[in-house]
Amino acid sequence: MEKYWSKLTKALSPYVPGEQPQDRKYLKLNTNENPFPPSDKVLTKVKDSVSDALRLYPDPNASRLKKAIANYYGIKEDNVFVGNGSDEVLAFSFLAFFKDKAPLSFPDITYSFYPVYCDIFEIESSLFSLDKDFSIDINKIPEKSGGIIFPNPNAPTGICLNLSDIETILHRFPNIVVIVDEAYIDFGGISSITLTEKYPNLLVVQTFSKSRSLAGLRVGFAIGHLGLIQALNRVKNSFNSYPLDNLAIEGAIAAIEDNEYFTHCCEAIIETRDYLIKELVSLSFQVLPSKANFLFVKHQKLDAALIYRELRENGILVRHFNKPTIDNFLRITIGKQEDMHLLVKCLKTIIDSNKI
Ligand SMILES: *Cc1c(COP(=O)(O)O)cnc(C)c1O
Repeated sequence: MEKYWSKLTKALSPYVPGEQPQDRKYLKLNTNENPFPPSDKVLTKVKDSVSDALRLYPDPNASRLKKAIANYYGIKEDNVFVGNGSDEVLAFSFLAFFKDKAPLSFPDITYSFYPVYCDIFEIESSLFSLDKDFSIDINKIPEKSGGIIFPNPNAPTGICLNLSDIETILHRFPNIVVIVDEAYIDFGGISSITLTEKYPNLLVVQTFSKSRSLAGLRVGFAIGHLGLIQALNRVKNSFNSYPLDNLAIEGAIAAIEDNEYFTHCCEAIIETRDYLIKELVSLSFQVLPSKANFLFVKHQKLDAALIYRELRENGILVRHFNKPTIDNFLRITIGKQEDMHLLVKCLKTIIDSNKI
């Protein structure tokens, strides 16, 4: 059948998301989903939106959602772009800012969708290595960059760069676009959104999937100078006029307006993260300092692949990346407190039963 495929399609190596197996019920700690349900206000709004109005196209500009996001961050609606998950916002950004401007620079250990977008859009990339402690060393960003992107906190390490380092990057590269992917910023990091007014080359991308418990609704957004937002609108309007459906628009507005529930969930996850760090350290894990809703950990004796397998057999899914330098690490999503008790109990059993 491949004879029908384009050369580009044949050459792709698509992104592989964390597994969502259906064979049994798992405790899912492998895709950084939020363990708490969406706010009740979101569920009510989405249910109310299942109506005759679905006959009509949604607002192509999702203007009320942009206003709600702008209101939340104290910025203008003109500085907000929304899309079908931040993955789509990122894809549009690659086309708008990086195509024909190669090479795009990003860390060698980072969100694995970046190289996939480079492949499909035929953008050259230039990888720079992380420091020995797995943090981003801004001095390693290549001088000859046509664009820069990194998650903050980085994935899958969970390590955060501070704002002064990000400002140093923006000063050093005023003529290219710098994207800060803040998928996990609400779990204790400091957002770069405050820098977007001062730096016309900074685009901050966020998502409703992690901190707002809405991975299934597919809503992401970007914040930046008007010039950047206009470029994204041109790309979006050359691809799909309606990336957000009625339900997504209504649900996302309700989510960003329910600040109380959001804050409560984020605080609970941060507290549970502190608990899990203590437990894992006492079980002889090395734990990287995380500002995300996951931990990146390595056991001092046992192989990550073995722990991954045995957890899976016990109904607990975590993420293992078969990639040099991180193949002995596991990425574990922070769940509810009781989920973490179960995980720790299971890890204790695995460690005990594998003692030589
Ligand atoms: C989860 C994630 C995204 C994508 O989120 P969606 O909004 O669900 O598409 C983007 N960047 C990073 C680093 C992520 O971990």
